[in-house]
Amino acid sequence: MHQIQHYLEDTYCFSALSDVIASGADEWGQWIVLRENIFHPQGGGQPADRGWVNGIPVSVRKLGSGQVALYPAAPFSAPAQEKVTSALSADDRIRHAALHTAGHLLNWEMRRYGWMAVRGHHFPGESRVEFSASGSQAVQPEQLPTEEIEEVIRTRLRNGGRVDTWYEGTTRMSQIEGAEPMPCAGTHTDNLNKISTFSIKAIKFKKGTLRISYDAGHIALENEPV
Ligand SMILES: [Zn+2]
Repeated sequence: MHQIQHYLEDTYCFSALSDVIASGADEWGQWIVLRENIFHPQGGGQPADRGWVNGIPVSVRKLGSGQVALYPAAPFSAPAQEKVTSALSADDRIRHAALHTAGHLLNWEMRRYGWMAVRGHHFPGESRVEFSASGSQAVQPEQLPTEEIEEVIRTRLRNGGRVDTWYEGTTRMSQIEGAEPMPCAGTHTDNLNKISTFSIKAIKFKKGTLRISYDAGHIALENEPV
């Protein structure tokens, strides 16, 4: 049965009422699949959401079928004919979205210095983007102006800009206003101005790879979910 992936449509969808459409067990334990899925599974350099089903903590994992499964921390029997309530940690979700979206922006802005992103890792406390030089014009790693790069990005965040997603065939595309579209299945802030802080922690260069470690935070939500 088709699973609806709300996390791909709305980063700020933190809870849902849903039917259980499949269940089973594997090496990680008992799992259930909800029709209305709000949870982002780990992937694309972004961690999985944390959350609950009917108040029971669940871990999130993508099945081989592509469906997103929830593994309850305690034995769970879905009540027949009854919907279950799922909720996720909004604090984690918006933090991950801020880090991930800031990673896209860092990727885009580093092009002016001649560096192209090759991979990203957007976990709290260890977020980084790795770049390779796009040509001989690339600014030498030791000459990269850390404070200027931070200021360029902070200015972009303050000025705001839409972050849109859409599908081309089965590929989900994402685009920060004024930047290049790119395929991505992560969760983004809906606007750059939702990212309240950005800082560069370190710039390192090793074996042709430039690694920029950074941190970013989301503005407080107006209506704190309970
Ligand atoms: Zn993305």
